[in-house]
Amino acid sequence: MSHQPSPTRYANPALYRRTGRSGLKLSRLSLGLWHNFGDTDLYDNSRALVLRAFDLGITHFDLANNYGPPPGSAERNFGRMLREDLAAHRDELIISTKAGYLMWDGPCGEWGSRKHILASLDQSLKRLGLDYVDIFYHHRPDPDTPLEESMGALALAVRSGKALYVALSNYNPEQTARAAAILRDLGTPCLLHQPKYHMYERTPERGLFDVLLKEGIGAIPFCPLAQGLLTNRYLNGIPEDSRAVRDPRFLKPEHITEAKLTQLRQLNTLAQSRGQSLAQLALLWVLRQPAVTTALIGASKVAQIEDNLAALNSPDLTPAESAQIDKILG
Ligand code: NDP
Repeated sequence: MSHQPSPTRYANPALYRRTGRSGLKLSRLSLGLWHNFGDTDLYDNSRALVLRAFDLGITHFDLANNYGPPPGSAERNFGRMLREDLAAHRDELIISTKAGYLMWDGPCGEWGSRKHILASLDQSLKRLGLDYVDIFYHHRPDPDTPLEESMGALALAVRSGKALYVALSNYNPEQTARAAAILRDLGTPCLLHQPKYHMYERTPERGLFDVLLKEGIGAIPFCPLAQGLLTNRYLNGIPEDSRAVRDPRFLKPEHITEAKLTQLRQLNTLAQSRGQSLAQLALLWVLRQPAVTTALIGASKVAQIEDNLAALNSPDLTPAESAQIDKILG
């Protein structure tokens, strides 16, 4: 039976912000399906995460061809939710996917050729059960393919009706400026850029955000909670049900050092003095950047999504609090 969404899901207009210089508004938090949506996860939990996020006003769901494991399974599982629960709400949803990382054997199974990008999009649409995605990304720059070819493939995806907007991820400031110029000339301006950005990864502050503001491209930082590090998850040890134990491919227990924990406890004290959780503080810190349209969170539990969205009800960080965070991070 299809999902009956909460009638109050759009009660807070302040939840939405225009993306760069486009007409598209996105919720200030978006939900990513990189972890917790594969075939190795419990489908009922994945479904509960998506439906709760939607009920709370999150409209943007971020995927990629390779999310799983196994690769492709997050798109397939989300496609089932679209079919069984959310079919009546397609026009409310902003669904993104990406091409660029390894998906199939042979020289065209990854990177940035026209062949890879367009074949990957067709595969994604099949798994999702959709005619089009709202946002289609090139997931990473390809050093061996002319940028004109990769951007031409994104533009063709829009012209052929398989995507509404195009976007970039993991491109540096110079690559972004060049790609944006090509896309503009092709009549398909770049909508969004997805960089890694959180308190421990501040590279976008050194040039990328300036390019995005100048070009009118929105930023959608991924891993704003440093995969769970910038939350209360690890303050008292490493829980069995955490990412560092369940799926330590990217967040390894050895990354959670005593020195980091000391900083995290100080950040947590600051968060408590503001009456909020460490996750909420970390999200407000990312959202304070004028270039940032929406922060791209992950979650393994419904309560985490609820906690994160509540961040939007608290006051912005003061300059003194931002300075204190800089001091803690050294
Ligand atoms: P986050 O940094 O938001 O980490 C999410 C994890 O933090 C959750 O799985 C959970 O960990 C923990 N968490 C979240 N909220 C709370 C809370 N309130 N209290 C306690 N713990 C919490 O993001 P992700 O690393 O999941 O990445 C988000 C998205 O970014 C991805 O799904 C993907 O869409 C995108 N991405 C894009 C990349 C790219 O190259 N373009 C690369 C990587 C990600 P636990 O599971 O332990 O409970």
